[in-house]
Amino acid sequence: MSPLDRRRFLLSAGAATAAAASPVLTSLLAFAQGEKAGRFPKGFFWGASTAAAQSEGSPAADGGGESIWDVFLRTPHATKDNSTNLIADDDYHRWKEDVKLMQQIGLNAYRFSISWPRVLPEGKGRVNEKALAYYSRLVDALLAAGITPFVTTYHFDYPEALQRLGGWLNPDSSHWLADYAHLLSSRLSDRVEHWLTINEPNILWGFGNEVGMMPPSQKLPETDLVRGAHNILLGHGRSVQAIRAGAKRAVEVSLAFAGLFSLPASHDLKDVAAAREASFSVRKAKVIPEVPPMAMLSNAWWLDPIYLGKYPADGMKLFPDAGKLADPQQMKIIHQPLDFCGVNLYSAPTVKAGANGAPETVPDPPNIPRSHYGWAVTPDLMYWAPKFLFDRYKQPIAITENGISLDDKPAPDGRVHDERRTAFIESYLRKFREASGDGVPLKGYFHWSLLDNFEWTQGFTERFGLIYVDYATQKRTVKDSAMRYRQIIQSNGATL
Ligand code: BGC
Repeated sequence: MSPLDRRRFLLSAGAATAAAASPVLTSLLAFAQGEKAGRFPKGFFWGASTAAAQSEGSPAADGGGESIWDVFLRTPHATKDNSTNLIADDDYHRWKEDVKLMQQIGLNAYRFSISWPRVLPEGKGRVNEKALAYYSRLVDALLAAGITPFVTTYHFDYPEALQRLGGWLNPDSSHWLADYAHLLSSRLSDRVEHWLTINEPNILWGFGNEVGMMPPSQKLPETDLVRGAHNILLGHGRSVQAIRAGAKRAVEVSLAFAGLFSLPASHDLKDVAAAREASFSVRKAKVIPEVPPMAMLSNAWWLDPIYLGKYPADGMKLFPDAGKLADPQQMKIIHQPLDFCGVNLYSAPTVKAGANGAPETVPDPPNIPRSHYGWAVTPDLMYWAPKFLFDRYKQPIAITENGISLDDKPAPDGRVHDERRTAFIESYLRKFREASGDGVPLKGYFHWSLLDNFEWTQGFTERFGLIYVDYATQKRTVKDSAMRYRQIIQSNGATL
């Protein structure tokens, strides 16, 4: 529906009646008044993301400790291609070259994670100064290159030593993350202004502890599942406080959440309301066919406590134990004011309003383009998710990850002609821009990933990078999509 058609619909008697019937629809109606195509604001962050365990390699170098992934990767057949991340992109040694490549692409921001066990080999206590010096040099090099660092303190690589103490089920666990975050802030915030406490708590907790598909490979009983999630939320809140307390200058803090949204089958307000309901309801849902239904992926289970200070009512019904944990003091700690809403967006299913308006899944068209992973290409996600998030949480939106895995190979001319990634970036960014036309403030976009890298249990079989990595030689080749991204960045999105 074009903006004009949408306006006509919104002004129609039908829409007005529907809106009068429901506060949810009233809010959406007020929301979807955008007439402008939208634009990327001045100061928009154009970046790319990586994570330590996926690109650095050499986890034990300079006295680094072990993460739960290091242990998991020693079990036979842990990854699809039997690979490990011991070398990965060798970024621990090649970071200077990689900063130059970032400059070549024209990035003005770079999101990377700091390896918790590299810095704190036992997860707490003794500090590995060599590791801190590595990250400090990286920050200096980025700033010298005119690239703003966005630091993720914790991206999946939980210290094994802490896991042995019970991990997120230990009552002290939230303090461990906060103490570590305080250390980083006190050492780096003279130069780093942008911080993300944690990457995808819903994914790490759901896949790691609800269905056991990722380390620590547990299937926790419900009481523990809810308690561990609560400790992670507390860890986030305490880390926000700690980052601010340790800060040497004004800092901006958020987290990078895995946004699992549903898209409306049409712009009809009933479908939009159904998509919003599906996006924020807490329920056990089948996400992967061969895996039992999961509840811990639900957006609102995590984001409502963080941004609104309370667990959602439907989630409390599903997990009555949460009621005991939700004491006002702790909810206040979780509910720290944040500076933006960081979200990772890849793909989404479509729903329509079924009987009584309840969301009903609409199958993807058979010819929908898919990534090498098999994820459907759904650019509308970049329009609807920011709208839903802003409507509910009122924060500017930073896309902290977005990208596509493809089976890239260098062509005979030595270059990597990844037209499908170029088309992906263009279509997703156009939709993100459209959300700004409806009044959603846009903060930044970080492509996942800068480099082809270690894709967790998939090993090196999925290539997400703007830069191709030949893993045998570590030779980097800037892909065609990166050069198109460069044009987009240089025009601040005007060439889209
Ligand atoms: C994670 C990344 C991962 C990417 C692609 C996100 O879930 O934060 O570490 O590589 O998606 O799967």
